[in-house]
Amino acid sequence: MSTIGFIGLGNMGAPMAANLVKAGERVSGFDILPGSRGASAEHGVQVVASARQSVEEADVVITMLPGGEQVLSVWKEILPAAKKGALFIDCSTIDVASARAAHGLAAERGIACLDAPVSGGVGGAKAATLTFMVGGSDDAFARGKPVLERMGKRIVHCGEAGNGQVAKICNNLILGASMIAVSEAFVLGEKLGLSHQALFDVVSGSSGQCWSLTSYCPVPGPVPASPANNGYKAGFTAALMLKDLNLAREAAQTAGAQTALGAHAAEIYRQFAEEGHGTLDFSAIVNLVRAQSQGG
Ligand code: NAD
Repeated sequence: MSTIGFIGLGNMGAPMAANLVKAGERVSGFDILPGSRGASAEHGVQVVASARQSVEEADVVITMLPGGEQVLSVWKEILPAAKKGALFIDCSTIDVASARAAHGLAAERGIACLDAPVSGGVGGAKAATLTFMVGGSDDAFARGKPVLERMGKRIVHCGEAGNGQVAKICNNLILGASMIAVSEAFVLGEKLGLSHQALFDVVSGSSGQCWSLTSYCPVPGPVPASPANNGYKAGFTAALMLKDLNLAREAAQTAGAQTALGAHAAEIYRQFAEEGHGTLDFSAIVNLVRAQSQGG
């Protein structure tokens, strides 16, 4: 049994920490929200009074926080309290520059670390089936992998510091744009009299096939487990998709990469979020496409 410090017990962090407890680890957890602390305590997390306290005895420290600003501020606070030989893992989705800065902060103190953002959403966090995209040294990866395996089923080493975050934003650039493309196809089909099921039956076996269609179909019916059949209850919210597309856009600007479709997708999700739909699943974007197609 190892001791794991876990900071950020929100929608994702709470079930991830609970899975570590289930796997027999001792988890010392902290969140700034009392409600999150209480909920995790019910799942066997030993809740402590500060982030620093959660890392003092920890062999591994995991952060699952909203953004880069929080990660850097928390790491600055807790790194001085870390045990010699501890491994730090940030599982939040943050900008590549902050991820690399976090690696730098850890290196200054001789602490090994990984950036390890996830895909799979709250469902994957609960079921311990997350995919982890991991950046960091081979040694740190070898140490972190068994811990990540307690919370996920695919752990991919993407290379050096920050590359986990690079993989994450690249994946979500594809996902955000492909969900809009699939939505546009369904709305176009509707307007021209093609049934959802007929379009699904053709495209799912043709060259337009993609995850946004076959696993997460944005219209009700063809994929019974998709959020479209459940009032677009998230899943993965439109607000988080917007966050990730903005991270991709910033990174593309810094790197000098041309990502016109990703930038346009971000604008479409921004409009949807500004209309008050940010808490819906991102596949509800089909409703914006349909609303904008009225009267044609
Ligand atoms: P969340 O807002 O539910 O949880 C974040 C938690 O961090 C909150 O409980 C908050 O109180 C806590 N927190 C904030 N600042 C803190 C601080 N200084 N010290 C201690 N705790 C602090 O968010 P979430 O949905 O759990 O997402 C966490 C991360 O995972 C984000 O970076 C998000 O982009 C990423 N992510 C989320 C999903 C998803 O489906 N929810 C999927 C993949 C990745």
